[in-house]
Amino acid sequence: MKSFVGSRAIPEMEYHRPKELMVALTLLQELKDSCKLIAGGTDLLPAFRRGTLSLGSRPIVDLSFIKELDYIKKEKEQIRIGAVTHLSDLEGSAIIRKYAPILADALRHMGSPQIRNQGTIGGNLCNASPAADTAPPLLILEARVLLKSVEGQRVISLDQFFLGPGMTILAPGEILTEIQIPIPKDEGGFCFLKLGRRNAFTLSIISVAAWVKVKEETFQGIRIALGAVAPTPMRALKTEKYIEGQRVTEKTIDSGAKVVSSEVQPISDVRASADYRKDMSYILTRRAILSCVTPGK
Ligand SMILES: Cc1cc2nc3c(=O)[nH]c(=O)nc-3n(C[C@H](O)[C@H](O)[C@H](O)COP(=O)(O)OP(=O)(O)OC[C@H]3O[C@@H](n4cnc5c(N)ncnc54)[C@H](O)[C@@H]3O)c2cc1C
Repeated sequence: MKSFVGSRAIPEMEYHRPKELMVALTLLQELKDSCKLIAGGTDLLPAFRRGTLSLGSRPIVDLSFIKELDYIKKEKEQIRIGAVTHLSDLEGSAIIRKYAPILADALRHMGSPQIRNQGTIGGNLCNASPAADTAPPLLILEARVLLKSVEGQRVISLDQFFLGPGMTILAPGEILTEIQIPIPKDEGGFCFLKLGRRNAFTLSIISVAAWVKVKEETFQGIRIALGAVAPTPMRALKTEKYIEGQRVTEKTIDSGAKVVSSEVQPISDVRASADYRKDMSYILTRRAILSCVTPGK
C-alpha cells in the first residue's frame, strides 16, 4: 500500500502502512537502509518539525497498524510485550502492575496521557535516547528483545541493544517485535526515581531503577540502572559489585552510591550540567537503595 503524507511543517514523503508483520519485513528487505520506521511518531514527528531529522526521499513504513505486534501476555516464565503496544496500555495492564510494577511506575512518569496513548514501548527503546524512561526498569528486570527480519530472528539481552545516542544493534531490514521480561521471583524490593525539571510532562535529567534483595541483613542481590547519565541507558555494574555481599548499613549504602559517580559519564545539555547529573546520580541511587531496603522511605 502506498500513499502520501504532507503538511506545512512535515515534508511530503512516501508512506507505507502494512497491516501484517511479514508484509512489513518484506517491504523492509526491499527498501533496506532507504526507509525509516515509525510507530507512534512521538519522537519522530517532533524531530521532523524541529528539522533535526530529514529523510530526503526515504520512504516511511508505519508499524502502528500491525495488530499482531500489539499485546501483553503472561507465560509461565516470562511476560511478552508486542513492540507497538502503547505506553498507556502497559501502564494500565494488570499483568504489568502485578509482575513488573517498577515498569508501570516508570510509565506513569512519562510524558502526558496523550503522549502515552500515542507512544509505543518499541519506539521508546528504538529511539535509543539515553533518557528513555522504560530502559532503566527493563534493564534491572533483565529484559530481552526479539528482533526479526525476513532472514530470521534473534533474541538479545536489552543491555546489548543500545550502542549510543540514537543508535541500536538493529541491522538494516530488522524490526524490534517483542520485549520479553523474565517474571521476577517474589523477593527483593524495587524502586524507580526520576528527576526532571517539573514533576510531570518532562524528560529525565536523570532516572534510577533499583532492585535489592536482602537476606540475614546482607545484600544478597542488587541491580541498578540509570538513564540520562551516559551515551546509553546503563547498568551500574561497578556499584552493584561493590555493594553485593556487604552488610546492610547506612554507611554501605552511602559509600556504594558514591561508586555510581565514578561510573556515570554524563554530558551537559539544556536540561542540566554534567556535574549536577553526577551529584544527583549519587543522591538518587542512595535514595533508591534505601527505599528498596526500607519500603516507604
Ligand atoms: C511532549 C513529549 C513528552 C515526552 N516525554 C517522555 C518521557 O517523559 N520519557 C520518555 O522516555 N520519552 C518521552 N517522550 C518521547 C516519546 O514519547 C517516547 O520515546 C515514545 O515511547 C516513542 O514511541 P513512538 O512509538 O512514538 O516512537 P516513534 O517516534 O514512532 O519512533 C521512534 C524511533 O524508533 C524507531 N522505531 C519505532 N518502533 C520500532 C520498532 N518496532 N522496530 C524498530 N524501530 C522502531 C523509529 O524508526 C524511530 O527512530 C516524549 C515525547 C514528547 C513529544
